[in-house]
Amino acid sequence: MDKDYKIVKMEKQKSIALIAHDNRKRDIIEWVQNNKDKLSRHFLCGTGTTAKLIAAETDLPVTAFNSGPLGGDQQIGCRIVECKIDFMIFFWDPLASQPHDPDVKALLRIAALYDIPVATNQSTADFLIQSPLMVETYDRKIIDYAKRIHSRTQAYANKEELK
Ligand code: PGA
Repeated sequence: MDKDYKIVKMEKQKSIALIAHDNRKRDIIEWVQNNKDKLSRHFLCGTGTTAKLIAAETDLPVTAFNSGPLGGDQQIGCRIVECKIDFMIFFWDPLASQPHDPDVKALLRIAALYDIPVATNQSTADFLIQSPLMVETYDRKIIDYAKRIHSRTQAYANKEELK
């Protein structure tokens, strides 16, 4: 059977998205401070407020997208689809509902689909940052969409022919 996935290579230098809900911002800043040396080897970006606070408190360069409730999660999701972001640390707040809950759900779905490492709490973030793979290349397996779309259009065309 034909493989319907393709390999996307993660470089040694990762492109890491940093996101924290309001009640977790202090925690993510502290976590970045504690791991500043390791994180400084990678490209960092994040949702607006999180990115700006981390940059101000740690002096690391962090590209800021829109604030999460204003579409920042969707911007990050879009870049995951384009393979421009390949790693995510997302300190979300499991005790508060968010106005942009659907965006958060969509972002986590896209991250799973594109097989990127995701930490949604501190212990996972600690395990990930200590991984030897942080400074190695890594082959992610993602669905080959061109092939998927081709076979779906073929199946549709065949069905139409039968009418
Ligand atoms: P913020 O967004 O960094 O702009 O606060 C985070 C979020 O709530 O998704």
